[in-house]
Amino acid sequence: MKIPSLVFIIIGFVMAYFSNFINSRVDGSNIKIFFYVGLGFIIWGFFKILTAFILRDKPIRAKTSIPPHRIPTERTIIKCPICMAKHYSNSNYCHLCGAKLNK
Ligand SMILES: [Zn+2]
Repeated sequence: MKIPSLVFIIIGFVMAYFSNFINSRVDGSNIKIFFYVGLGFIIWGFFKILTAFILRDKPIRAKTSIPPHRIPTERTIIKCPICMAKHYSNSNYCHLCGAKLNK
C-alpha cells in the first residue's frame, strides 16, 4: 500500500466538489462524470481503509520475516574433505561426519 487511502478520499472529495461547483456554473457541461469519478475515489479509499482494518489482525509478515541466517548468501557447492558429502549451504561443518569444511 504505497498511496494512503486517505489521499484517495481527499482526491475524491475535491474532485466531486469541484465538478459539482463547475456543473452549477456552466450549463450543459459534461463535468458530471468527474463527480462520479470522485465518488469512486471516495468509495475506493473507504474500501482500502476497511480492508486494512480487517486484515490488520492477521499475520501477514511471512514474506519479510525470514531469519537472517536462513537467507542463503551464496549457492556454491562445498564438498566435505572426509566423506565427500555435498553441501549447498555455506555451513562451517559437515552435516554427516561433522568435519570442518574448508571454503
Ligand atoms: Zn563429511
